[in-house]
Amino acid sequence: MIQSIDDIRADFPILHRKVKGHPLVYLDNAATTQKPKAVIDALTYYYTNTNANVHRGIHSLAEEATADFEATRDTVKEFINSAHREEVIFTRGTTESINLVAYTWGRQNIKEGDEIIISAMEHHSNIVPWQILCEEKNALLKVIPITEHGEIIMEEFDKLFSPKTKLVSVVHVSNAMGTINPVEEIINKSHAVGAKVLIDGAQSSMHLDINVQKLNCDFFACSAHKLFGPTGIGVLYGKKEILESMPPFHGGGEMIKDCTLPKTTYADLPYKFEAGTPNIGDTIAFKAALEYIQSIGKAHIRKHEDELLRYATEKLLQINGLKIIGTARNKISVISFVINGVHPQDVGILLDNKGIAIRTGHHCAQPLMDFYEIPGTMRASFAVYNTIEEIDKLTEGLQKAIKLLL
Ligand code: PLP
Repeated sequence: MIQSIDDIRADFPILHRKVKGHPLVYLDNAATTQKPKAVIDALTYYYTNTNANVHRGIHSLAEEATADFEATRDTVKEFINSAHREEVIFTRGTTESINLVAYTWGRQNIKEGDEIIISAMEHHSNIVPWQILCEEKNALLKVIPITEHGEIIMEEFDKLFSPKTKLVSVVHVSNAMGTINPVEEIINKSHAVGAKVLIDGAQSSMHLDINVQKLNCDFFACSAHKLFGPTGIGVLYGKKEILESMPPFHGGGEMIKDCTLPKTTYADLPYKFEAGTPNIGDTIAFKAALEYIQSIGKAHIRKHEDELLRYATEKLLQINGLKIIGTARNKISVISFVINGVHPQDVGILLDNKGIAIRTGHHCAQPLMDFYEIPGTMRASFAVYNTIEEIDKLTEGLQKAIKLLL
């Protein structure tokens, strides 16, 4: 049954608060999403009823906590359609997932003179780990250029390949512009030259169906907090045979098979990459978030968000001097824009005075801002709980802000 927008909004307690005397209009979903009651309840349930460390205990609480914790792994497996549950590694989020690959697979496989390809629209978390690796290994970081619309130029991508290309790491959906990248084609082309592919799915995982087997990517990274889940928990998916060949990331408890003073052998997947006490409560609550998304359905989410995007694009373009940054043909519900003569931050503050939350700045994509020769943008990003009325409030708020600032 398709839920009404009112039903969906009723599931998110925070949407009913006021900010500076106005009903909250939350349009910063690309930064983080709000949490439905089911997620908040799951977290409370864990700390109220089953709090215990996982995997090692034999008492009831430990067994219950472990079962709930591992149940999330099964739900993630279904959510991304991985072939095996042990291909799902829990991390702190997308950033840690990418760093895990850079510090383990990267250190093991990238040699002097090798090449890594990223795109010009990457989030800093898919730039800096590779810069660090390339510096350490004396390897080369190459960048796929983009068009003015914010789309990857595939012909230029083809030209970047060389026998030294070892890894292609690209964002599935741009957080700053909403562009959906042709990752299937990127993966196929990269595999054809023997390169591995990492997909940064921080933004795509909420809006698009994710099927890592169909994509055939080698690694996929995402964060729970962008999926109605808690902060501090995320996923690295990796193909089993690749993960098995990789050295561990962190050393410590939980990731060992046998530890003696002369030598340690490592645990099997996924625990080899999950040293120390994990983020148990948030992992358990993450399951509730994924189930919540499944209960609405990605198709319904996308349909509603696309309507919001269409409406917002039309409304915002009626504002004098407003220019949208990122006009790809294929995009999700993110609108970045600049307005002649006004500073994004000033607009952000004035909107906040009306209870409207948007993001301003470089969106952790400074090289992209450099490409457009701007310091930053204003960004409204929509979720399934946003409404047409909220977009009207944004438009009205922007018009008032412009009047005050110009
Ligand atoms: N990649 C993209 C495209 C993002 O939008 C983000 C977060 O905004 C990240 C990576 C980093 O995610 P996290 O901060 O959850 O590790």
